[in-house]
Amino acid sequence: MAKLILKNVFKRYENKDKKKKKAVNPLAVNNFSLETEDGEFIGILGPSGCGKTTSLRMIAGLEDITDGEIYIGDMKVNDVDPKDRGIGLAFEDYALYPPLSVYDNIAFNLKAKNVSADDIKKEIDRIAPMLKVEELLEMRPAKLSGGQKQRVNLARAIIRKPKLLLLDEPMSHLDGKMRQVLRIELQRLHKEIKCTTIIVTHDQLEAMSLADRIAIMKDGELQQFGTPLEVYDNPVNEFVAGFIGEPPMNINTVKVEKTDKGTFFKFVDADIAIPVPDRYLPVVSEGMKVRLGVRPTDLMIGDENSKGSDAKISVFENLGEERKISFRVGTEFLTLVTPDEKRYKQGDPVKLEVKADKTHLFDVETGEVIR
Ligand code: ATP
Repeated sequence: MAKLILKNVFKRYENKDKKKKKAVNPLAVNNFSLETEDGEFIGILGPSGCGKTTSLRMIAGLEDITDGEIYIGDMKVNDVDPKDRGIGLAFEDYALYPPLSVYDNIAFNLKAKNVSADDIKKEIDRIAPMLKVEELLEMRPAKLSGGQKQRVNLARAIIRKPKLLLLDEPMSHLDGKMRQVLRIELQRLHKEIKCTTIIVTHDQLEAMSLADRIAIMKDGELQQFGTPLEVYDNPVNEFVAGFIGEPPMNINTVKVEKTDKGTFFKFVDADIAIPVPDRYLPVVSEGMKVRLGVRPTDLMIGDENSKGSDAKISVFENLGEERKISFRVGTEFLTLVTPDEKRYKQGDPVKLEVKADKTHLFDVETGEVIR
């Protein structure tokens, strides 16, 4: 295993708009720096097109880097051939060789390195049980299910005892249940081989459940790098706050209003006012507009003695284990999720309360967190 270090890495694809004769692509990866621990499991997470795959391909050496440095262990790998980087790769498209058996597919890279047939067999005997592919070894890829192909793909990636394992959406072709199974297997595999692992995914559940730390990207730039709990509890900006969590965090524009009853965040697009938590009193001022973030599980409906804000229910949904209650805010909704079994109907007046210590504030202009 080895540390992975990215230092100020940039990638610009040389795409040209032929008519306008100018580059049409801004930076695909913009000043990306990251340092992992030995053996750490890292998730790279972000929306489509944010530069996840490009970053992984640069680490693998499949894509030149425009600027910056990449280290695997002590070795600067900018100019090192992919096959000499000590990496194992499992990319989205399985790319198994159809005419070869599973055994020969897994053995392929070792054969290319002139490893003896005996040693290859020993290696396959070692890893086949880890990935539960023992029964598949004589089969051709065409006969395999999606999940089986993904396992063979992983077996092929780890057979060379890589220092660094790179996975790009390794479960993207699988249905929900199969993904869950493979996720657990991936966790077990990581514990067993203890190899520094980078997984690229746009599935936050996958990243949150697998990774020790998550790098969240947007428009080629790293937004935040932290443990799943850190990025969930302390998002550094509005993008991360809205991206992590399902259903997403409510984020609304509010205006600070001082009344004889105290200082409130008054929703700009709804008749809802929430007392400003004490910790924000020093950083807000009368009339200031901010973006207020509250997770659906941090909103509550108070009892008859509640000092919460008056609000009318717009939508009530029973989701089995929990209830989802929505309040109209302009053209959007403020969503509350609760395990409370009480039923409501549209138009019911309620007292809306907020867990004050769970609120987040963001700058209206920059989206940066205000603490
Ligand atoms: P997805 O989740 O959809 O796979 P991603 O986060 O992995 O997206 P990338 O594939 O890394 O994103 O793409 C980042 C940006 O670089 C995008 O704007 C994409 O259009 C552009 N890009 C990617 N590959 C190339 C290429 N070979 N030539 C030109 N532009 C590219």
